[in-house]
Amino acid sequence: MSVRVRFAPSPTGNLHVGSLRDALFKFLHARHEGGVNLLRIEDTDRTRYSAESEAEFIETLKWVGITFDEGPHIGGPNAPYRQSERKAAGIYEGHIQTLLAAGHAYKAFETPEELTLMREYQQINRLPTGYFGGDWRDATAAQVAEAERAGKAFVIRQRIPRDTTIAIEDAIRGRIEWDSNTVDDPVLIKGDGMPTYHFAAMVDDHLMGITHIGRGEEWISSAPKHAVLFDQFGWQRPVFIHYPVILGTDRKKLSKRHGATRVLDYRAQGFLPAAILNFVALIGWSPGEDREVMKREDLIAAFDIDGLQPSSGIFDIEKLRWMNGVYIRETPLDDLVKILTEYVCDPVALQYLADPGEEKAAARVDVLPQLAMLRKGLAEQPEYAKAAIGLEQERVHTLTDFGEATAFFFVEEPEMDEKAVSKWFPQPQVPELFDHLIERFSSVQTSSSEWCEMLVRDYAEKKGFEKLGPVVHPIRVALTGKTVGPGLFELMSVLGPERMVGRLTRARAMVR
Ligand code: GLU
Repeated sequence: MSVRVRFAPSPTGNLHVGSLRDALFKFLHARHEGGVNLLRIEDTDRTRYSAESEAEFIETLKWVGITFDEGPHIGGPNAPYRQSERKAAGIYEGHIQTLLAAGHAYKAFETPEELTLMREYQQINRLPTGYFGGDWRDATAAQVAEAERAGKAFVIRQRIPRDTTIAIEDAIRGRIEWDSNTVDDPVLIKGDGMPTYHFAAMVDDHLMGITHIGRGEEWISSAPKHAVLFDQFGWQRPVFIHYPVILGTDRKKLSKRHGATRVLDYRAQGFLPAAILNFVALIGWSPGEDREVMKREDLIAAFDIDGLQPSSGIFDIEKLRWMNGVYIRETPLDDLVKILTEYVCDPVALQYLADPGEEKAAARVDVLPQLAMLRKGLAEQPEYAKAAIGLEQERVHTLTDFGEATAFFFVEEPEMDEKAVSKWFPQPQVPELFDHLIERFSSVQTSSSEWCEMLVRDYAEKKGFEKLGPVVHPIRVALTGKTVGPGLFELMSVLGPERMVGRLTRARAMVR
């Protein structure tokens, strides 16, 4: 049977890393097996559902390149794909009647106050909390009819079998067993007639031909109810796969402290979708052989549910930064220029960077003016900007980093690092060195990196320097204001003679 999987979010807020990871595993599984990946919106809790959130889910999934074969945004043979619409179409009604008629479900008429009392009683007496039968599991038909006649509100609960063992075969964890007396009778239909997740999701999984239910580990305790529901309907159970929980590097629950955020915020922070996809795939899944850098196609080719780990997945933002740098370096320069041009003009990213909210670290440099310079550079001196980007491509981790990295290219007078200036400019060789370079650069139109290198090496040799340091460091500081940066000779070539003369002349004035 061909693999059919579904991502079935309840869109109530932003799409975070955990949900993205779940969606990605299913996508990779479906694509690896040549199966079907389906999107279903679980919106039966109408008080929490948000259409904006659904739109964000769809946008985020599209951005990272997770595609679907069926879903509310593209249609398909199992439409509708929103559970509220399925409810309105009457899809669940017949199924609940089937369960009621077979005695696998029953109406329970407790009031909210009665349920609260029940829970308090269980807590005080250290009993398992939940509804294990109350007054209604074994009520007679006459009692139920009377309550209904009296117009009492009710929910419909699943009748979990008692005094037996419920077992599932989890694809990652193997056999998991429960004493059925510890599994409470969940609500299937709420007082307002809306189905719960326990009911709607399982009915839909069956109707949509889902072969594997992949979901977070937090759903394990619901699995016996779901497995039993399939049995009660006489349907074949899908394979359950419970993905490992995601923790931060300190092994605590993942939170903003770990740099985990809304996925679209990573876009604003200058991360590339391919890096996000690669990074997220490796949280709780391993392709083996220590492979790490894997593009979408590599991930699809390698993905196998056997590679899913039962132990928790670790979210390490530093690893994401590193990986993003790898992807930036692997991007052909022309493509990178296009990506950066879009990025520095993206109002959403700029708005986020202007006010990133709680995460804004005190020490963070304000990148907006630098990104504005890059934007101007790209528009007014595209070839020069491209060359500058090409040089810094080796050194940055995010698109945002290009702001700071390329700033010195676009300013008339680079900001001088005081420490660097006081270390290198007072040295005795410096005035003559600068004079020499100013003279040479004033007489040429272009300066290839080879020529610059020859010039510097010849000068160092002629002046008897054994090492290049005392010559190249002052030059770098004069040209960029900094002691670190891309290769000096490439940098000189990109700046060109005219800019170098300007910068060296200003530096020369500082050493007089
Ligand atoms: N709507 C559920 C959630 O968002 C889906 C869980 C599942 O995949 O079965 O958590």
